[in-house]
Amino acid sequence: MGSKGDFHLHSTASDGVHTPAWVMETAAARGVRVLSLTDHDTTAGLAEAATAAKRLGLRLIPGMELSTDYQGADVHLLAYGFDPSNAELQAKLEWLRSGRLRRTEQIVAILGRLGAPIRIERVYEIAGEATVGRPHVARALVEAGHVASVQEAFDRFLHNGGPADVDRVKFGPRETIELVHAVGGVVFCAHPVFIGERYPEVLAQFAVWGLDGIETYYKHYDAETVEAHRALGERLGLMRSGGSDYHGLGNPDDREIGDFGFANERVDEFVAYLEHKGVNTGDWRTA
Ligand code: AMP
Ligand code: ZN
Ligand code: FE
Ligand code: FE
Repeated sequence: MGSKGDFHLHSTASDGVHTPAWVMETAAARGVRVLSLTDHDTTAGLAEAATAAKRLGLRLIPGMELSTDYQGADVHLLAYGFDPSNAELQAKLEWLRSGRLRRTEQIVAILGRLGAPIRIERVYEIAGEATVGRPHVARALVEAGHVASVQEAFDRFLHNGGPADVDRVKFGPRETIELVHAVGGVVFCAHPVFIGERYPEVLAQFAVWGLDGIETYYKHYDAETVEAHRALGERLGLMRSGGSDYHGLGNPDDREIGDFGFANERVDEFVAYLEHKGVNTGDWRTA
């Protein structure tokens, strides 16, 4: 049957282009049978996704992506199978999102000084219900005519370390792992290669702190990269997951939902792991 899985997907609940329902429908149409919606710092898209998943016969496992700061590096962690209705979890996510609002005000102030003024109200309108981020600022810059494209906005102003990039509040990886475990979930390290060359040492440290797995199958990874992740996971006793990190942006490295080599027994092994861990793999309520 060619049953696929995709455990790294974004929607309009954060910085994706498409609604949670659209993401579920497209996943189903592409042969995905089990998946997670992993928006940044929010579970707000999960209720809509769950309704669509039920209608489509998909198995949706609660998910989210959390950015953490480790010695100045921005390390992304994927949480699965937690209880989204937990009040303590939601309070912590709210704190992350309020940090994003303060950061957006700072970015807009800097852009004004750099001769590219935009209105913060417009950025919030563009973001709508979503967790606000740099992509929304980039779209406001395009609208105001300061740049020709979102990419130019990043290239000139907003790229990591760029003139209008401002750090946002984050938890450390250890507290993030502990938080997710406390609400019944497991934690996988997203796209470790983005950490840089020292990623094996970083993951070894995270494993000591309780990390559960590594995102081993990822949109543009070649066979060699997958094998390096698999071997590292084996050495550290970590499970394997896979995700497309689909945002709907159409960037050159992007893959379609479910189209990155994570299917059949690889998916079965991951889902069996979640079941073995006793995490929340289907029967759950949203906050
Ligand atoms: P934020 O969550 O506000 O830090 O924004 C992160 C998002 O900005 C990423 O998910 C990308 O969509 C986008 N982004 C970050 N750096 C770049 C870049 N150099 N070029 C294009 N998009 C970028
Ligand atoms: Zn994103
Ligand atoms: Fe990420
Ligand atoms: Fe992501």
